[in-house]
Amino acid sequence: MFTLSPLPFELSALEPHISARTLEFHHGKHHQTYVGNLNKLIAGTDNETKSLEEIMAVSFNQPDQTAIFNNAAQVYNHNFYWQSLNPAPTKPGAEMTQMVVDSFGSLEAFNEQFLATALAQFGSGWVWLVLEAGKLKIVKTANADNPLVHGQKPLLTIDVWEHAYYLDYQNRRADYGKNIIANLLNWNFAETQLKS
Ligand code: FE
Repeated sequence: MFTLSPLPFELSALEPHISARTLEFHHGKHHQTYVGNLNKLIAGTDNETKSLEEIMAVSFNQPDQTAIFNNAAQVYNHNFYWQSLNPAPTKPGAEMTQMVVDSFGSLEAFNEQFLATALAQFGSGWVWLVLEAGKLKIVKTANADNPLVHGQKPLLTIDVWEHAYYLDYQNRRADYGKNIIANLLNWNFAETQLKS
């Protein structure tokens, strides 16, 4: 059985960029619901003893297991999103900065492309910084989809489902994305992922 991972910060820690009220619903209701649904779906099956990563791998692209994939991936994606946010601004270290420069030209160019990709995702989904074949890339995924099942290693993500920003920003996804990129993106976590 899976349990809801606690947030790695206080509910109000991301204010004014993301409110405690948004986190209360996003973590306490949306994320919790994915955990509860997944537990119901895997009860009494082989999946009960598997990790989230294993469940995603076996259920991906299986038409009869869409609900299992969606809920497992959404549990994983949200765990990853909370860790991608840091209450205080962080900066990439020397090695990560070099990789960012190699792939995007500059940190500013990365920031612009990350935001543009978040805006380009039509409807619900996620924008990710990933490692693929030794290079950094920005990708977007729709709904519950996830870079892991496409052979990419996720380093950072922003949730661009409306439930992530609607209470604070209504329809203004760009402002939500800009504020995260400027103030909350957790480069320390990205570096930990890079080395894992
Ligand atoms: Fe979400």
